Amino acid sequence: MAQQDYYAVLGVPASATQDEIKKKYRRLAAKHHPDKNPNDPKAAETFKAISEAYQTLGDADKRKQYDDLKRRGSFGDFVDFNSRGGARRSGSGGQSPNSGIRMEDFDVGGLGGLGDIFSSMFGNARNAQGSRARGPQRGEDLEYSLEIAFRTAAMGGKVPVEIDFHEECATCHGSGAAPGAKLVTCSECNGRGTISFGQGGFAVQRPCPACMGRGQIPTERCPTCAGTGDVRTRRVVQITVPAGVDTGTKIRMKGKGARGAKDGTPGDLLITFQVKPDRFYKREGLDLIAPVKINIAQATLGSKISVKTLDATKVAIRIPSGTTSGKRFRVRGQGVEKDGARGDLIVQVEVTVPEKLTAEQEEAMKKFAEAMHY
Ligand SMILES: [Zn+2]
Ligand SMILES: [Zn+2]
Repeated sequence: MAQQDYYAVLGVPASATQDEIKKKYRRLAAKHHPDKNPNDPKAAETFKAISEAYQTLGDADKRKQYDDLKRRGSFGDFVDFNSRGGARRSGSGGQSPNSGIRMEDFDVGGLGGLGDIFSSMFGNARNAQGSRARGPQRGEDLEYSLEIAFRTAAMGGKVPVEIDFHEECATCHGSGAAPGAKLVTCSECNGRGTISFGQGGFAVQRPCPACMGRGQIPTERCPTCAGTGDVRTRRVVQITVPAGVDTGTKIRMKGKGARGAKDGTPGDLLITFQVKPDRFYKREGLDLIAPVKINIAQATLGSKISVKTLDATKVAIRIPSGTTSGKRFRVRGQGVEKDGARGDLIVQVEVTVPEKLTAEQEEAMKKFAEAMHY
């Protein structure tokens, strides 16, 4: 049976509540029930699939175990990506594939084959074990959301980040055996790598817990990975930020993901940028908006002000007499540069009114008011 995501089968998001899952299941079950669709074998299949999905997702505990399995990557191309930050693993090759779920966690009876549940849950894990034995395996792609400073985004730069990698153990190259240890046939599964359970007329195969599906057991376990063949390592990776990126911009750093197993090629690192706001500038495409306060005298009589550009050089801007609040002045070519194009620096003036006046200023203001015939 093809690997199917139970959430996709029921058409609910992974964040759905138990109640939402139940309601959706009932709706789908009513629609696809074989009694209602007597001559439609496809409906029967769909009904079986949704029943199967609901057997797991409809039970909070089983659902948790299922989610956990998914997170561990036993499910192939699962991508758990959240925009708030942090590394999320994707791809295949999890921890010991049989962890977490026990046979007795599933009720026998009702609709939906128990065997199918297990084969769909562990099918992929077994494949991973199989390909592990066969040869090179590409490393995982890692997806990462990265918050960067406004200036780094605008001008480009390098940002070091710590990333957790889940990779083949370098000491034993995934075999789980200590250096020099011999591999002997697993007595639990007689070297098959899987064991069968019989219950209620079902024969269920699952990876052998003793040898973790390998069929062989080392005379001494690898001290680095405690025999699992995988390790979690934390490494610092320099993320190259191209100039002009904005929130939501994605880049792919080829070969910067997890190392491949059995000398396979490494995976990629996928980064989505989140740009932090700046105290001074705002972005409008490639233009930089810089709000600058001027007082009523500067606005009325005109003046010269000085504004910092992104690279901290100062430019002088002439404010003409009679400038109103909100007026924009453009400094060409001082915006964000991206792929050869360059935006402008736009100075937006805000005319401020003094809250307190000195006696001298008040005198001057009164004279001004008189002159305006107030
Ligand atoms: Zn090891
Ligand atoms: Zn075994």
